[in-house]
Amino acid sequence: MQTKKTKKIGLIFAMQEEQEGLDEYILNSRKSYYGQREFIEGNLWGTPIVAVLSGIGKVAAAITSTQLIERFDVSELILTGVAGGADVQIQRGDVVIADQLLQHDMNASPLFPKFEIPMRNKSRFHAEANLYEVLEKAAHDFTSSSKTTRVHRGLIASGDQFINDATILAQLKLEIPDLLAVEMEGAAIAQVCHDFGIPFAVVRTISDSANDNALHDFKEFIEKIAAPYSIGILKSYFELIKRNNPA
Ligand code: SAH
Repeated sequence: MQTKKTKKIGLIFAMQEEQEGLDEYILNSRKSYYGQREFIEGNLWGTPIVAVLSGIGKVAAAITSTQLIERFDVSELILTGVAGGADVQIQRGDVVIADQLLQHDMNASPLFPKFEIPMRNKSRFHAEANLYEVLEKAAHDFTSSSKTTRVHRGLIASGDQFINDATILAQLKLEIPDLLAVEMEGAAIAQVCHDFGIPFAVVRTISDSANDNALHDFKEFIEKIAAPYSIGILKSYFELIKRNNPA
């Protein structure tokens, strides 16, 4: 019989601005360094965690998630941060929870259909429903005082490209009509977690609309709002899982 893994959540952030201030909440913290990354193990709001800054892009995210799984033996993985909105219903400040993730710059056609991951027979990876449903509730709890912020669930696409061009975004939407947000790490983590059989979830706050204003909007948002949102949603999430699984 397979014994259930002890809960230890891996928390990944791409940029320092997305996790600014998290350290002070981590109790009994221990730091270690591998592959040019600082890993912080400790206890966050009652749950064992390992937090790490991956750096930007799919390769950085894949290396980091592999390290969390292989070296730190995490039982699940959560990526939080910002993303560009890719649908008319999505506004800056909204939260998008991924139920599926796709790599929009994967294209081995004509050998494989566009977006399909070669040898995996799929273009979309599914996040873990048990995780994203609770994260969605946490996002609702965190944003409940705001009248304008909305929480969405759906497809997030990742690629090694900061999208700040309405034409490029429109082309992507043509090919992937149900796309809600674009970023640069989520689908890489999804592929690693798929291969290792580790549950994962991705939650993103919308910093920009991936259009010609994206750089300006992104810079403003990342400085002031990214970390409070990431940390606030995570805090609500940890409170919910504690309430659901009292020690
Ligand atoms: N030059 C920027 C680079 C940021 S890359 C800098 O100031 O450092 C953008 C980061 O935010 C990535 O980690 C990505 O996941 C996310 N992101 C936010 N908006 C995005 C968009 N429009 N396109 C792609 N990624 C975006």
